[in-house]
Amino acid sequence: MGETTPGARWQNWARTASSRPVRVEHPRDVAELAACVATAAEQGLTVRAVGAGHSFTAAAATDGVLLSLDAVDAIEQVQRRPDGTTLVTVGAGIRLAALNGALAALGLALRNLGDIDRQSIAGAISTGTHGTGARLGGLATQVVAARLVTAAGEVVETSPTHEPELFELARLGLGSAGVLAAVTLETVPAFLLRAVEEPWPLDAVLEQLDGPDGLVDGNEHFEFYWFPHTRRALTKRNNRVDSGRGLNPLRRWVDDELLSNTVFEATNRLATAVPAVTRRLNAVAARSLSARTYVAPSPQVFASPRRVVFREMEYAVPRAAVRDVLAEVDRWVESSGERLPFPAEIRFAAADDLWLSTAHGRETAYLAVHQYWRLPHERYFSAVERIVAEHDGRPHWGKLHGLDAERLAQLYPRFADAQRVRAQADPTGVFDNPYLTRVFGPRT
Ligand SMILES: Cc1cc2nc3c(=O)[nH]c(=O)nc-3n(C[C@H](O)[C@H](O)[C@H](O)COP(=O)(O)OP(=O)(O)OC[C@H]3O[C@@H](n4cnc5c(N)ncnc54)[C@H](O)[C@@H]3O)c2cc1C
Repeated sequence: MGETTPGARWQNWARTASSRPVRVEHPRDVAELAACVATAAEQGLTVRAVGAGHSFTAAAATDGVLLSLDAVDAIEQVQRRPDGTTLVTVGAGIRLAALNGALAALGLALRNLGDIDRQSIAGAISTGTHGTGARLGGLATQVVAARLVTAAGEVVETSPTHEPELFELARLGLGSAGVLAAVTLETVPAFLLRAVEEPWPLDAVLEQLDGPDGLVDGNEHFEFYWFPHTRRALTKRNNRVDSGRGLNPLRRWVDDELLSNTVFEATNRLATAVPAVTRRLNAVAARSLSARTYVAPSPQVFASPRRVVFREMEYAVPRAAVRDVLAEVDRWVESSGERLPFPAEIRFAAADDLWLSTAHGRETAYLAVHQYWRLPHERYFSAVERIVAEHDGRPHWGKLHGLDAERLAQLYPRFADAQRVRAQADPTGVFDNPYLTRVFGPRT
């Protein structure tokens, strides 16, 4: 499997997808990439690009040609602008950790990031990967131009003013309209964040969520983890500062490696072997997490190592619905008898106008539910999916879900436009696979 998902530890889709590529190609530049696509299309083979293979859906799976863009990872251009932002053009295969390092060397950073940095920039934007922050959008909102190789093997520069419709699917479209060769990101000067992580009673979190000084609007980045079977939460508030004390390396190792990975793996194994102890384990975990405050460069605060393997489903709901959704999920958990040793994660984002963004047109709250990979996830995820359906929940494109094009068309006002542009850009289905056919609908 190593070759199918180069560099990936998770291989979630590879475990479940039945399709296997007949050929894996490693183009080194856009010319080789265009030739790979053109040759595959001539041979009647389908093509998918893969980043780090960290998606939980089989979005990158193919039984044709799999393109790994790991070697297409160089910073190409840096344009400093009078408003303090800087446009950075970079090869689409670069991993976020490497991108963060390269930007830091230039004194720059991305405005917002998710909670790991293993993904490629192309894979992350293509699935709508996001972090948290009520005034901030996901990674794709930071893209101002994209170089795309189309199904015909042509190289097209896209932006809001050049091929704007193609740009929509280039910056967030699951690779349905072409393979990204490079993206131009709007970056900001590097910044420090003060991270305040505290265990709170869940009810206090829910009471203080809203209002101008509430947890969501009163912090640049606010999120919380809720431990099922308890009324406890771990809150995280990250805000910009000019200076401050970093975390002692030993404390960081104890929290982020020992407790969050080694001990957490052990408690999940225990919960798998003896489900009846799950409630007690969660209560202990939620209470034993000690508060910590530290200051660090933004990428170090956003991302942390996540080594315990799990399945994940995440839904975007209107922000105003988040309390009701959590209450309904809690009721289902208590009445179902299901045992859930993994916390749920709740994040926030600003409304945006990207056609396929999960935050399109509405202030958004995200509910991510997880299950340890050795435990069944289907019943829990189906129940959550039924609950969020009542609130027009939109699924993360890279995480498990059961929706199809018919339902997605009701959830996204510009869905028909996305289907039209996909059909125009790839009339013969060079970039098709079963996952894309499910979410965009069969070709007519
Ligand atoms: C531990 C973990 C933590 C995560 N944390 C977050 C989080 O905080 N926030 C969040 O929103 N998501 C999160 N995710 C989900 C993850 O960000 C997405 O699934 C993302 O797509 C993974 O990036 P990748 O490089 O592995 O892409 P892949 O899984 O390899 O590919 C994803 C999609 O992008 C397409 N693609 C890849 N490269 C290209 C290209 N060059 N051109 C066109 N299309 C391309 C693929 O074909 C596929 O459709 C997490 C996942 C894991 C496993």
